[in-house]
Amino acid sequence: MKNQKGYVHSIETLGAVDGPGLRFVLFLQGCPLRCKFCHNPDTWHFDGGEEYTVEEMVSKILRYRTYIKSGGVTISGGEPLRQAEFVLALLKKLHEEGFHVAIDTSGIYCEGVAFDAAMEADLLLLDIKSFDREKAIELTGFPTDNAWKILEERQKRNLPVWIRHVMVPEWTIRTLDPDGKIIDSEEKWKSENVELIEGLRRLNDYSCIERVDLLPFHKMGEFKYEEAHIPYSLKDTKEPTEDVVQWAENVLKNEFKR
Ligand code: SF4
Repeated sequence: MKNQKGYVHSIETLGAVDGPGLRFVLFLQGCPLRCKFCHNPDTWHFDGGEEYTVEEMVSKILRYRTYIKSGGVTISGGEPLRQAEFVLALLKKLHEEGFHVAIDTSGIYCEGVAFDAAMEADLLLLDIKSFDREKAIELTGFPTDNAWKILEERQKRNLPVWIRHVMVPEWTIRTLDPDGKIIDSEEKWKSENVELIEGLRRLNDYSCIERVDLLPFHKMGEFKYEEAHIPYSLKDTKEPTEDVVQWAENVLKNEFKR
């Protein structure tokens, strides 16, 4: 595993949103999913990215040791576990150096080395793309079965997980009523969002989940689709309003107990 190579899309040296504390965030190249809401379609291709050996990456990270003392390292993507051998070797090396390591994954891979890496991480940031299996397939190209399996396995081992769920209007949250009118009250919003509410309730079964983040869909990556000549199917989807975000936060507070 010594010369295991990884293909890196980009690096954020002081990230504050991908796990606890300040973190060195590594975005690996390549992802088999095609989330309609993805804001990094430039990570999709498997050919590309800058090549690093594990040793090269570790020595780069070591330069930031002082700054990321409060946090650690997050390995994200793309789908990082597509490069599972590199991730596991890097993880082990970073553990030897005393770093806290998180992996941010869609949970698509849950066998072999990918599984081992998902269990080795100090924290797993697990994206549940949709609480409805069929909708997940339509939204990303894949079901969420493996993500739930990984969650079960982390639960069995009592290993911490943070769940991430993107709020995509009319996909994972409803902002319009069945007549196509904008929902204008929290009460109505709740009655149209049973799927989300029940999904959040389901997460209570897993005591390993420390935190759930509901992330509002945004269109900041739209230009990347234009640049890459990839059709952007959510062109007409609006970002959720502040009211919707607040209603969802209220539901999360009431339904998910930690
Ligand atoms: S899993 Fe992440 S990188 Fe892959 S398509 Fe979905 S949002 Fe984009």
